Amino acid sequence: MTDQLPHLDTSRSVDDRVAHLLALMTPQEKAGQMLQLDARGDLEDVVLAHHAGSVLHASPERLVAAHGLTARTRLRIPLLVGEDCIHGHSFFEGATIFPTQLGMAASWDADLLARVARATAVEASATGIHWTFSPVLCIARDLRWGRVNETFGEDPFLIGELASAMVRGYQGEGLDDATAVLACAKHFAGYSETQGGRDASEADLSRRKLRSWFLPPFERVAREGCRTFMLGYQTTDGVPITVNSWLLDEVLRGEWGYTGVLVTDWDNVGRMVWEQRVQPDHAHAAAAAVLAGNDLVMTTPGFFAGALEAIDRGMLAEKDLDRAVARILALKFELGLFEDPRLPERERQRAVVGSAEHARLNLEAARRSLVLLANDGTLPLAGGSADGAGGTAAGPAAEDGRTVAVVGPLADDAQTQLGDWAGSSGQADWLPNGQPRAMITTVLDGLRATVPAGWRVTEARGAEILSLTPDPEGALFPDGQPRPPVVAPAEPDDALIAEAVAAAREADYVVAVVGDRIELVGEGRSTATLELLGGQAALLEALAATGTPLVVVLLASKPLVLPPAAHGAAALVWAANPGMAGGQAVAELLLGLAEPSGRLPVSFPRHVGQQPTYYNQIRGQHGSRYADLTQTPAFAFGHGLSYSTVAYRDPAVADAGLTSADTLRVEVTVANTGSRPVRETVQLYIRDEVTSASWTDRELKAFRQVELAPGEERRVVLELPVADCSIVDAEGVRRVEPGEFEALVGPSSRPDSLLPVPFTVRTAD
Ligand code: BGC
Repeated sequence: MTDQLPHLDTSRSVDDRVAHLLALMTPQEKAGQMLQLDARGDLEDVVLAHHAGSVLHASPERLVAAHGLTARTRLRIPLLVGEDCIHGHSFFEGATIFPTQLGMAASWDADLLARVARATAVEASATGIHWTFSPVLCIARDLRWGRVNETFGEDPFLIGELASAMVRGYQGEGLDDATAVLACAKHFAGYSETQGGRDASEADLSRRKLRSWFLPPFERVAREGCRTFMLGYQTTDGVPITVNSWLLDEVLRGEWGYTGVLVTDWDNVGRMVWEQRVQPDHAHAAAAAVLAGNDLVMTTPGFFAGALEAIDRGMLAEKDLDRAVARILALKFELGLFEDPRLPERERQRAVVGSAEHARLNLEAARRSLVLLANDGTLPLAGGSADGAGGTAAGPAAEDGRTVAVVGPLADDAQTQLGDWAGSSGQADWLPNGQPRAMITTVLDGLRATVPAGWRVTEARGAEILSLTPDPEGALFPDGQPRPPVVAPAEPDDALIAEAVAAAREADYVVAVVGDRIELVGEGRSTATLELLGGQAALLEALAATGTPLVVVLLASKPLVLPPAAHGAAALVWAANPGMAGGQAVAELLLGLAEPSGRLPVSFPRHVGQQPTYYNQIRGQHGSRYADLTQTPAFAFGHGLSYSTVAYRDPAVADAGLTSADTLRVEVTVANTGSRPVRETVQLYIRDEVTSASWTDRELKAFRQVELAPGEERRVVLELPVADCSIVDAEGVRRVEPGEFEALVGPSSRPDSLLPVPFTVRTAD
């Protein structure tokens, strides 16, 4: 009787229970326990033949079926169920879909991100999900990469702050809480640095470069208790990440003392055989992956036979599997899955999935994700202007009879607005039509519902973006996964443009909603260009020529290169993929019911050839121009306007002579000099004047958000340990180099927006 067995005795310690269960397991059960298989496949094969320890991509029905099958296994080890709930419970019909991670990063608000992650965990846990593959800690540098939308942007410090908050939100008060889900820091590490923005290729990364920028956010969440890590797809210096024992074993588990579970990315182990060709067969690949420190092997069914063969051939010892299996089992014991497998709970689902409370949080997240990039005073359209007419509290002032023409291919495209990893974005086959339309407010919906009484909203499509043709290399990759179709930009359509121009001519304002579509976003869908595709640039040009004030809403998964008509528009708002409440949030912002407060977590380039445009580049030689273009971005990291004006003055450091054991305290007066309230993000960058190895000119080290009423000013204090004013030296060691520094404080990373204050770091006595 298994219920008499010691591993089922909850009064024993987790280690003890793991040891007892391991002693009962056959090599087959151990190899299977290390597998995470696709629940869209044959479930009997997954659970009964392969003894899989974990599944992913289970539709609600198949999730229940998979659990049912574990009852037929010898040891009845519960399944660990993972899913990509990366901005909400993405693939559960009716769940709350928040803005994409990049969109939410524009809030620069760790507390907001923690609340979003908590809400996601509450929804996901009610549906039987134990583990979300989120957050993404990749650094967005080359914007051609298809997965920029999944990141927190380009800055390691901001990434660390926001990732840490999401991990806390997901994991909640502790794993024994029924609403906790495991967080997963991914993709470890350097996946975003693949060449040319191409997905899953070679990443040119020295160990020093990794330690300088790519590893710090991961180190932070590892030390803070993120329970799982996932690898990426990159190869560095000839070593696929799956077998990079320096990173996986020495750094992650050794230096950082990480005790959690490490999962490969999709078929990483198999790909070493059939795609990268660095292992002759699955036995070698399995042995190498286990020895490098991986615990769970995602979607490589061949690992099962490969690992057993490797044991037979003496390439692996059974105890090598034990280390990994012990970590997986420990997680299952800590989650209490042996006592309660955390199956879907209908009643809890009814109460929390897509709840009104989560919808309110979603609207808050959407508002905070919007970045006002430019404004000549046309915005807000109602509710008073920057000189204070009208009011925000009571809603738009009732200027009579205005007409707003809402044009553009994305003005009413509900599913595109949700972005990747949501509904019908391609990963889940049980939601072919995406999330319920009624839960989504598009920009057109939002404006129609929110304009003042007596205003008119007209609409015109104006342009198409793209059409699709099959990939000439075939519909499927060699492993059977679908190959994305090839995108062909649509030609400008004169009839559509004429219709939009007519609508603009008859309107007081034209709001053009342009951007990208899911076919240009995601894994295997990097883009060679960053331009607005199809007929969109021609549409904007024609609209600009009407003379009607043009407001461009850029609903784009990532920063794009904008045509002159967008740069010359009366106002420009970036809405990333703002989620289900996005259209309402945009409408409120345009109409002055909400104050813009987002700040760019990633720079906007002027031209694709400028890539990369991140702000914290290494100080070099020969200036900062191409012969034919500046190297500066169109909009820099940290930039974002409000409807008021803000002045910074009198920066000071409390003590200009410090050691690395001290705390740096920087103060600055921030004044709201306009007539509307602001939420200002006060940013502190550090410049190390002379470094032993080349280093960036400035790095974000702290920021604070302050709310200021019109006319209000405040002395804002930012503190950071001097130990954070470090560089990674030529030997790859991170340290503070005593000498002269500057604290740079201001509203963005742009050098001319920052006020410098010098300080000195002395060698400690
Ligand atoms: C992606 C991961 C994701 C996994 C499971 C992979 O292809 O790189 O980010 O979590 O699939 O869906």
